[in-house]
Amino acid sequence: MYIGRFAPSPTGLLHKGSLVAALGSYLRARQQQGQWLVRMEDLDPLREVAGAADDILQTLEAHALYWDGEVVYQSQRQSCYEAALAELLASGQVYACTCTRKGLRQQAAMGALGMIYPGICRDVQHPFLGRYAIRVRTHNMPLCFTDRLQGTHCQCLETELGDFIIRRSDGYFAYQLAVVVDDHLQGVTEVVRGEDLLDNTQRQNYLQRLLGYRQPDYCHLPMVKNPQGQKLSKQTHAPAVKRAAAAANLVEALELLRGSVVDEKITITELERLRQEPPEVILQWAVAHSASC
Ligand SMILES: [Zn+2]
Repeated sequence: MYIGRFAPSPTGLLHKGSLVAALGSYLRARQQQGQWLVRMEDLDPLREVAGAADDILQTLEAHALYWDGEVVYQSQRQSCYEAALAELLASGQVYACTCTRKGLRQQAAMGALGMIYPGICRDVQHPFLGRYAIRVRTHNMPLCFTDRLQGTHCQCLETELGDFIIRRSDGYFAYQLAVVVDDHLQGVTEVVRGEDLLDNTQRQNYLQRLLGYRQPDYCHLPMVKNPQGQKLSKQTHAPAVKRAAAAANLVEALELLRGSVVDEKITITELERLRQEPPEVILQWAVAHSASC
């Protein structure tokens, strides 16, 4: 069975960009008569905004985006990530890193994906103390995956990124590990999310291979931009979507998904007519007019 998910982080309220990701993943799941799960990616309490998690869920409900099963909170799943880390430790694929950000800034080159870790601690065998970060060993064989919308993408992790962190020096698990463990445990068969996460996929595929997990399919949705051409995000101060304007928000999101998850042949007139309908009716129409991306 198809299992999809929407996985927001409660670092702010739901904005237009995240609504598009929610709707895109919802439509894919409903079109396949599958399940649509919601997972709250609240790994880092320091970045969290109080009340945002509940607010996001209420906003989804106001748009008739009802999920299957219970919402999963990453903050409650430390033991799952510990277990995965223990497996990686046992297989010798990870090591402790004592480097500081400041020290690395002087030594590491910058790549397209950020700082490239130069492998300083790789063969030192530092003890696995809580205050040290844990990195996973990478290699330079190209890792490739084919996205349903974005085609084939490859990365050579070692040169492009270096050994990357799976548990931070402050003790929190890194997003890359948590996502892989949760998608596996929740049986997710396809990951539908924003294009901004496209270049994270190879790291996740790499961890999936090391942990012996099945690799899900991927469908990265085109980015939603503001009039200045910037990606809509908390960093660019994207405004929260208004629950009272649910129908208009859904119509706008459908317009942005036209040609990817939504049939490209639907017309503006058809979409405009939907503005008068309740969210449930809009979603029903959208499922019937979704494209098999
Ligand atoms: Zn190091």
